[in-house]
Amino acid sequence: MSQPRTGGCLCGAIRYETEGEPVFTLRCHCRDCQRASGAAHVPAARMPSAGFRIVQGTPKRYVNKADSGNDISRIFCGDCGTPLYVQVSTKPEIVGLRVTTLDDPSWFKPDADIFMQSAQPWDHVDAPRFDSYPTGQAYPVGGKS
Ligand SMILES: [Zn+2]
Ligand SMILES: [Zn+2]
Repeated sequence: MSQPRTGGCLCGAIRYETEGEPVFTLRCHCRDCQRASGAAHVPAARMPSAGFRIVQGTPKRYVNKADSGNDISRIFCGDCGTPLYVQVSTKPEIVGLRVTTLDDPSWFKPDADIFMQSAQPWDHVDAPRFDSYPTGQAYPVGGKS
C-alpha cells in the first residue's frame, strides 16, 4: 500500500492525510471558487473520502448552494482561512481536495478545465475545456457539483 499523501493549511493548525488515487482532477473556474480562493481558478483532485482524514485540528465549514441546487460544503482553517476541500451533499464518497494545500502538489495534472464560462480572460489554461461541468461517458464520476 502506498503512503498517504499529506497536507495542511498555511498556519499549520489543520493537517490531513489522503489515501488512494484521485478519481478526477480538474481546475475549477467558477465564480464561487474564485471568490473562496482569491485565485483565478482552483486546482482540485477528487479523492475517495474513505481514505481522507483530518489528523490535526478542527476545520470550519461554510455551506452554500451550487448551481445545481445541491449543498456544497467548503472546509477551511478558521485561523488562517486556507480553503482545504469541498464536499457535495449528493457525493459523500468524494472529497474535492484543493491540491495546492498538499505538502507535494507537483504530481497534479488536470483532466479538465471546468466552468470556463466564468474563466478570467487573463488566466491561460490548457486542459480540455467545459463551459460548466463535464457530463457523459468520458467523465463517469462527473455530474454537477
Ligand atoms: Zn490554518
Ligand atoms: Zn468551482
